[in-house]
Amino acid sequence: MIDSHCHLADEGFATDLVAVIDRAKSAGLERALVILEGGNPKEAAQAARVQALWPEVCVAIGVHPHQAHRFADRAQDAAAAVRRQISETPSVRAIGEIGLDYHYDFSPRDAQCAVFRAQVHVAREQKLPVVIHTREADVDTLAILHDAGGGEARGVLHCFTGTQELADAALDLGFYLSFAGIITFPKAGDLREVARRVPMDRLLTETDSPFLAPVPHRGKRNEPAWVAHVVEALAGLHDVAPQAMAERTTANFHELFRP
Ligand SMILES: [Zn+2]
Ligand SMILES: [Zn+2]
Repeated sequence: MIDSHCHLADEGFATDLVAVIDRAKSAGLERALVILEGGNPKEAAQAARVQALWPEVCVAIGVHPHQAHRFADRAQDAAAAVRRQISETPSVRAIGEIGLDYHYDFSPRDAQCAVFRAQVHVAREQKLPVVIHTREADVDTLAILHDAGGGEARGVLHCFTGTQELADAALDLGFYLSFAGIITFPKAGDLREVARRVPMDRLLTETDSPFLAPVPHRGKRNEPAWVAHVVEALAGLHDVAPQAMAERTTANFHELFRP
């Protein structure tokens, strides 16, 4: 079992990291992919603590669309910063999370697009997969993955909450879809229907912790151990045993994020 997207370097985990990681291991997690905000020294320092406690953990580094405004009109600087941090981080397995968020629009859309595009180029050049955050931006996200990805970009749409059309387009591009605790929410019937149709060899599981705690922990701080609830929900949708879903999604993770 794997948590393919968590924020263990978030300050929300600073005080009880040892206990959180113990619970993750006890729950049967083999490893996690920890998402780091590019150019954030506090997160990088906490990631080093995570890795000392749990050496199997690997990381992704990227400038989130919410932060793209910091690089308005200088997307190349975002790319350079990410490139530099990657070269200093041996455990890096992906560029991310990167993408577009037109729901919150915390950064101007042209800055989001430019910073996203520049980082897809870095991913191609470094031969690393991308971890994509996309919200209410389907058309532009797909266009940038098409153009900047040039048929070579590999990756995952994380915390998938999109439509069947977006799922189909991502699968056509060869991408994986990662599901988080939202699929356990009572009102997520449409999303569960999408998840049911994703071929098992394209599924990944994640928590996106500390956010989005699954049922029955809703409203609490989320943590990697609770990815078990996501695995269980996906297993139910695909009519297989949880163990089979855990093994399949673990194998998928290794296929995408191989060193
Ligand atoms: Zn995200
Ligand atoms: Zn995230």
